Amino acid sequence: MSYVDEVIDLVVKKNPNEPEFHQAVKEVLESLRVVIEANEDKYRKEALLERLTEPERQLLFRVPWVDDNGQVHVNKAYRVQFNSAIGPYKGGLRLHPSVNLSIIKFLGFEQIFKNSLTGLPIGGGKGGSDFDPKGKSDREIMAFCQSFMAELCKYIGADTDVPAGDIGTGAREIGYMFGQYKRIRGVFEGVLTGKGLTYGGSLVRTEATGYGLLYFTEEMLKLAGKDMKDKVIAISGAGNVAIYAAEKAVQMGAKVVTMSDSTGWIYDPEGIDLDAVKEIKEVKRARLTEYKTYRPNSEYHEGAGVWSVKCDIALPCATQNELHLEDAKQLVANGCIAVAEGANMPTTMEATEYLQANGVLFAPGKASNAGGVATSALEMSQNSERLSWSFEEVDAKLKNIMVNICHNATDAAKRYGCEGNYVVGANIAGFEKVAAAMEAQGIV
Ligand code: GLU
Repeated sequence: MSYVDEVIDLVVKKNPNEPEFHQAVKEVLESLRVVIEANEDKYRKEALLERLTEPERQLLFRVPWVDDNGQVHVNKAYRVQFNSAIGPYKGGLRLHPSVNLSIIKFLGFEQIFKNSLTGLPIGGGKGGSDFDPKGKSDREIMAFCQSFMAELCKYIGADTDVPAGDIGTGAREIGYMFGQYKRIRGVFEGVLTGKGLTYGGSLVRTEATGYGLLYFTEEMLKLAGKDMKDKVIAISGAGNVAIYAAEKAVQMGAKVVTMSDSTGWIYDPEGIDLDAVKEIKEVKRARLTEYKTYRPNSEYHEGAGVWSVKCDIALPCATQNELHLEDAKQLVANGCIAVAEGANMPTTMEATEYLQANGVLFAPGKASNAGGVATSALEMSQNSERLSWSFEEVDAKLKNIMVNICHNATDAAKRYGCEGNYVVGANIAGFEKVAAAMEAQGIV
């Protein structure tokens, strides 16, 4: 049996009931097959893949907090410190009722390769809780964040593990967590990224994932002799990634016609009014059902459905496994030329294969959404030197990083005879650096 298949079997056996984690490991190891096979004996002897797929440390703890009626609640919380070969653990905190160990491990595993691809010195980690921020008062959010950090603060630090935002964790939550960390540990340091601009945050961090996604997409199209001008874009999601992806797409001359949230989706054939979406989502923290009051000619539909709309480019920016085989077929039938992932693993493996087999340019999230964490690493740099860079400076660095990731993935795919396959290219380019660092540091 090949080493890759051996390790995939082992991971499935040793980590039962973790389907998302299995999916992420399979997707990565399958595409590394060519690289592993070229060094099979050496890697097997070093148990490199066993070490890569087993987190260095996993923290599980309870978070008790009191709601506005005096009722106590208990949530499960996680921090998976997956791999520190190339830098301190780095990755977001997801607050969503669906969160479990499988989801945090899949995200942490992906983060290793994503962070490596940025070219910056950050290891891979992820955390979160099954706490549902929806409908909670500000005080309840603060109570949860403080209790969460009261435990987490023992295990993180500017040089050890630097969490950030993800689904459900934005500037407000990071602020409450930062305040609690500082109070308990007594140090003002860059322990979290995505901070507010008044206390060490970086310009462009809010926009970074969405903007970076478009910088990557533009470069990928350019390498294929195409551009963004007048392209019709379908976006899923209406959170931080989706909003700033839409903003940059419009700046590049494209038209965004869909967005979605957990209850439904909007179709605005004239182009989404982003100021309206920002007000609904960022200010009111409300549902997209309200969009129709701003734009009477738009459509609102319950459930999922953005991939049924005719588009040139699809940008899944909501969550994992939201673009299925049926959706991929619909996109191809509608003439879609590119799919670039803003979320983490939004496209199922079958859908990815179908898109690639039908000539659609496909950018995996670990490459195309790396702009968020890359800008987090830029925030860490600024915190270390106690300076703040201008918007233009950070934005230029972000763009440069995304273009480099695109080229590195392209080159790695070419080196192994898989030209144009960004999944293979991103996994190989991300893996090579981490593997070399692990080997250099001995058996740890
Ligand atoms: N949660 C984001 C991601 O999936 C950002 C992580 C960070 O900035 O550390 O990459």
